[in-house]
Amino acid sequence: MTFNLEKLKEENAMLLPMMEAETIFWLNPNNGEVAEYPFNENDVAEVEARLRRFASYLRIAFPQTEATNGIIESPLIEIPKMQKALSKRYGIAHRGTLLMKCDSHLPVSGSIKARGGIHEVLKFAEDIAIENGLLKKEDDYAVLAEPRFKELFSQYSVAVGSTGNLGLSIGIISAKLGFHVTIHMSSDARQWKKDMLRERGAIVVEYPDDYQKAVAEGRKEAAKDPMCHFVDDEGSADLFLGYATAGKRLDRQLKEKGIVIDEDHPMFVYLPCGVGGGPGGVAFGLKQVYGSNVHCFFSEPTHAPCMALGMMTGLHDKIACSDIGLDGKTAADGLAVGRASRLVGKIMETQLDGVFTVEDEELYQLLFLLSEEEKQYIEPSACAGFPGIAKVLSHEEYLKKNGLVDKMDQAVHVVWATGGSMVPTEEMQDYLKKGKELI
Ligand SMILES: *Cc1c(COP(=O)(O)O)cnc(C)c1O
Repeated sequence: MTFNLEKLKEENAMLLPMMEAETIFWLNPNNGEVAEYPFNENDVAEVEARLRRFASYLRIAFPQTEATNGIIESPLIEIPKMQKALSKRYGIAHRGTLLMKCDSHLPVSGSIKARGGIHEVLKFAEDIAIENGLLKKEDDYAVLAEPRFKELFSQYSVAVGSTGNLGLSIGIISAKLGFHVTIHMSSDARQWKKDMLRERGAIVVEYPDDYQKAVAEGRKEAAKDPMCHFVDDEGSADLFLGYATAGKRLDRQLKEKGIVIDEDHPMFVYLPCGVGGGPGGVAFGLKQVYGSNVHCFFSEPTHAPCMALGMMTGLHDKIACSDIGLDGKTAADGLAVGRASRLVGKIMETQLDGVFTVEDEELYQLLFLLSEEEKQYIEPSACAGFPGIAKVLSHEEYLKKNGLVDKMDQAVHVVWATGGSMVPTEEMQDYLKKGKELI
């Protein structure tokens, strides 16, 4: 350890409650400052163009993308009944509009990882195909469904370490393209995810330790093989930029609904956070579109608040939840990450409004509430954003400081529901039962 825990505790009042696994709501003091970022709008635009090139292939490979013309995108829905229920639950007047971004229902792999994960593998495939003279960027990428490409890609492999959903995304798209693919999974990953991956032809290696160990082992294995591409969840630019394309996509959906976001109509976005790539990329993309009119918050489990820890101490990936005595155990398996990305925290230093934490029991209850009120079924991790709304609405000092007090009637709140449509029915029944018992 290169830090002094006692000193950190003195400097950060919230560290102590965090160590006790109590919920916190941390506001980022550096939000809005001017900074240089490792990516710009052109980088995101390039990824958008790549995803458009692949659309004709994806339509063939995954007919469920037919409805969106081969673009992997999720619905944006209003959830007014849930809004009422949240008001009651948290004892607040929930003003403004509440929307849910249903990445839980993204085609192909049913979670936010279908954005970044699939993009990274598509890029790898495109690079190989172009290098080998089999593809030009001007071509109709539908040709990628032809056997000669499968043959080419079968000489290469893809590997990733994952808590589950990233593994699903990488595994499904890699196997479909014809790559050999190995998913290194932590033992807390759900059994059905391992089963589904094996069914689709991926190799699943399990580790008794946590996610970080799975990533480290995956990285080591992949390094031995020059034909292997390792998807690095802890710092990949291709993942990050894949997530970032959500910014313009959401903007289009809001416009289609006639919803305006501007200085008088601020938007608040609540993003469940694991290693940080998914929510960080989305926040980065949203900031490019809306600037200071969008306010992004991350949500983490009380037992694995790695991004809050990294950001409040400024140590980012140099400190882990285990360093402050937390076990990282949570029912939010998509968020069970002990150490933040080495890429994302730094970028978020000037873009993120804050981070709050949530208890597992709360997640189950919200999952149940959403199913009752809106007939929407999402996984525990994906419910982590909901408690943020009440925290923001009742934080007078925050609202005042940001000039938001008299704008909240026109505000738009977007809860990013990050996963769940692929959860097997029986598993979902268990979640619902737990939530019902707790509520
Ligand atoms: C992975 C995941 C997240 C968070 O994404 P990170 O990139 O790990 O921060 C949130 N929700 C679900 C359901 C996920 O699978």
